[in-house]
Amino acid sequence: MVKFSQIYTQNKPIISVEIFPPKTEQGFLHLSERMSHLQAYPLDFVSVTYGAGGSTQDRTLDLVQQVHTQVGVPGVPHFTSIGATRESVRAFLDAAVAQGICNIVALRGDIPAHDPDFVMKARDFRYGNELVAFIHQHTDQLDIAVGGYPEGHPESPDLAQGIEHLKLKVDAGAAIIITQLFYDNSHFLRFRDRAVQAGITIPIVPGIMPILKFSQIQRITSLCGATVPNDLRAALIAQTDGSPEQQAIGIDYTLQQSRHLLAEGVPGIHIYSLNNWQAVNQLVGGVQDLVQG
Ligand SMILES: Cc1cc2nc3c(=O)[nH]c(=O)nc-3n(C[C@H](O)[C@H](O)[C@H](O)COP(=O)(O)OP(=O)(O)OC[C@H]3O[C@@H](n4cnc5c(N)ncnc54)[C@H](O)[C@@H]3O)c2cc1C
Repeated sequence: MVKFSQIYTQNKPIISVEIFPPKTEQGFLHLSERMSHLQAYPLDFVSVTYGAGGSTQDRTLDLVQQVHTQVGVPGVPHFTSIGATRESVRAFLDAAVAQGICNIVALRGDIPAHDPDFVMKARDFRYGNELVAFIHQHTDQLDIAVGGYPEGHPESPDLAQGIEHLKLKVDAGAAIIITQLFYDNSHFLRFRDRAVQAGITIPIVPGIMPILKFSQIQRITSLCGATVPNDLRAALIAQTDGSPEQQAIGIDYTLQQSRHLLAEGVPGIHIYSLNNWQAVNQLVGGVQDLVQG
């Protein structure tokens, strides 16, 4: 297995995909059957989300194992510390290391909507930097990715404070930053400039989510605070929601976005797949063509 610090020193853009564990046994089996599609592309790693709500947490490491065995590329678990104790974090880390995993995406997790004071009442970890420091102290077997927010985190009053907090995670031992999704590259480029000005030198990897159904993206962006440019929004709502025409606009936009980011020298593209293999096929193939071309 290869650590982030080695993956991102290769002399080429790194292409990675994020998937999530389905909630049901049937969904999990269905995903396992289809995951071999990913073998068609020379992906550098596949990351697997962690259900902060709890429902699918046990499945994250199982799915990472399947990524190793079925796709043959490094699988990277996400982990969220919200509500976790030191013992439960240690147990997860030890299980990951025992499985041969050598990278982790470490996040605080979202505050439950029904309990806005949760952070202050949280058990052993209040913020991402505390989790990163704990992982770093507990094991040297895991390279750590942390989240970055080009348009600001929904809880941050401004980007300046977001960058300050990002720097805390970097100083605590993060190896790379993967960003929240965004549809306007100027947000990412401004965020990257501000991070560099703050002394952040680790790779900052843009996270890109293809639009296949605009209503779905509206829901996701309303939660994470990302914005959709007006001209893109107008083009999408002129089509039937989820129609092939809307998907074609969405995929084409994401490819244009990726082309521009690669020209701006990003270290790689991280694709939020939403477990949609059609999108993965079109997008990973398209991004590979951009990288090779
Ligand atoms: C790449 C990526 C992958 C993700 N994967 C998952 C996943 O698998 N499962 C999941 O549930 N969620 C996931 N998320 C969502 C993430 O859990 C939320 O965005 C969460 O609200 C923030 O996590 P964080 O570690 O980035 O938070 P933090 O860095 O802790 O920041 C959270 C907020 O607290 C503020 N803050 C940070 N440190 C301090 C401090 N020391 N003092 C005061 N304020 C501070 C920040 O400015 C920010 O507003 C992912 C996000 C990204 C970008």
